[in-house]
Order: sequence, then structure tokens, then C-alpha cells
Amino acid sequence: MTDLAGKHGLVVGVANKRSLSWAIAQAAGQAGARLAVTYQGERLEENVRKLADQLQSPLVLPCDVTDDAQIAAVFEAIDREFGGLDFVVHGAAFAPQGELLNPFVETSREGFRTALEVSAYSLIALARQARPLMERRGGGSIVTLTYLGSIRVLPNYNVMGVAKAALEAGVRYLASDLGPSNIRVNAISAGPVKTLAAAGIPGLSGFLQAYRERAPLRRGIDAAEVADTAMYLIGPAGRGMTGEVLFVDAGYHVMGV
Ligand code: NAP
Repeated sequence: MTDLAGKHGLVVGVANKRSLSWAIAQAAGQAGARLAVTYQGERLEENVRKLADQLQSPLVLPCDVTDDAQIAAVFEAIDREFGGLDFVVHGAAFAPQGELLNPFVETSREGFRTALEVSAYSLIALARQARPLMERRGGGSIVTLTYLGSIRVLPNYNVMGVAKAALEAGVRYLASDLGPSNIRVNAISAGPVKTLAAAGIPGLSGFLQAYRERAPLRRGIDAAEVADTAMYLIGPAGRGMTGEVLFVDAGYHVMGV
């Protein structure tokens, strides 16, 4: 098991107990890490505080990733409380519902901007703030979450697919920029899991069925499997890897039909 005793991490993107970021937070907490956990807006605060209490997280902070002041406040608090940072888990994504319901060709300028800002730019903004805190620790690991819709066309994924393509390209450019500081940046491309965000994608049950029928492992995946791979990327076993997209999807992406 990965040992993260003495390590400090930031987890962004916990909405509830089904969130992939929460599964990763739990695994990191069990491995001994101390965590800062953020929530987006007052609506989620109570729920996220209750979850974070389970891990005795010393920092539970608001962070809308479109708000630079909130991002800065999160890293100031981390600097005060932890004095440095070892890893960041980035699990924030959003696209307006209409952009997922309408044909892709109807994508609005505003919907495109929102999806790309929340789901892709946010990784750059967090990485920039994390850098000095990680440099103090001699390096760090940044892990984000992506989906196959970045490289394949999937029904109703639409502008989120474009946002995930930008996110994955961002992983590579950030890996190049931050590698000399021994900061690694990787993505996990997860198969579909029933979370709040996934529930917003029309036809999710059809996706899940397709994985059960056609993935090499003939099943879907669960959040704990994503968390295990995140532990690998965060912990010492992943020390030689950066700029990578690792699939945790029961092998679905290798199939032609
Ligand atoms: P989730 O529990 O709904 O988590 C998504 C999180 O992003 C929520 O906490 C959401 O908060 C947050 N978010 C949205 N806009 C934000 C903003 N402006 N600032 C800060 N946070 C914001 O769903 P999830 O499935 O675990 O998603 C986590 C990541 O995994 C996402 O990047 C998603 O694309 C990716 N992923 C998911 C699947 C899947 O099937 N579930 C598969 C592959 C990849 P709100 O609830 O307030 O919007």
C-alpha cells in the first residue's frame, strides 16, 4: 500500500460521497496524508465538511475554480497550515446542460468558454499556485481526471470532449514546464461511474451497458479503482511518470467495436 505519511495534499472536486475526488481523498487519507479539501459554493459546504471530517482534514475551503481570488486564498491557507504541498487532485468539471443535450454543432460560445474554463483552464491555474509550495518539498504530483470523450466521439459528451482534449494537452504542457522542478502531472481517464457530474450526461446508462458488454474485462469500473491508480501516480511508485494519460476503464478504449 502507498505510504503518504507526512505528505500534504489538496483535493478539488468533491461534491458528495460518490465523487471520484472523494474516493481519492479517502485513499490518500488512509495512506496517511493530511488533506485540504475544497467545495464549490455554499450549496455543497455542509456535505463536504461532513465528509472531510471523516479524514480529520484540517482545511475545508471554498474554491470555485473560475475565481482567482478563491484559488489564491486556498493556497495561502495551505501555505500557513502545511508550509508546502506534495500533491493536488483536480476533479472539477462542468458544462452547461444545454450543451450536452443539443447537437455538438450547436455549441454556444458561452457554453464552450464555461466548459473549457472550469474543466481545463482550472488545472493550469491550480498548477501555477501549487508550484512554489511543491518546489519547497523538492517536487510533487498533480493528478487530474479525464474521459475517453477527449479522443473519441461519444453521444452527448459534446463540448466536454473538447474540454477533456484541452485538459489532456494541458497535462503534457504542464508536465514539460514543471518537470524540472520534479513536479509530475498526469491524468487518469476513467470509465463511466455514476456520480453527480456523470448523471448530467444524457444516456449514461447506455454508456455503462456498453462497457459491460464490450470492455475486455466485461464490466464497468468503480471509484475505488480510480483511487488506487491515483495513489500510484501520487506515491513513489509513479515517480518516473509524467505527462501521461492512464486509462482505468476495464480496457474499453482499446476496442474497435
Ligand atoms: P462530481 O462528483 O460531480 O464532481 C465534479 C466536481 O466538479 C463537483 O464537485 C463540482 O461541483 C465540481 N465543479 C464544477 N464546477 C466547478 C467550479 N467552477 N469550481 C470548482 N468545482 C467545480 O463528478 P465526478 O464524476 O466525480 O467528476 C470528477 C472528475 O472526473 C471530472 O473531471 C469528470 O469529468 C471526471 N470523470 C468522471 C467520470 C465519471 O463517469 N463519473 C469518468 C471520467 C472522468 P458542483 O457539483 O457544484 O458542480
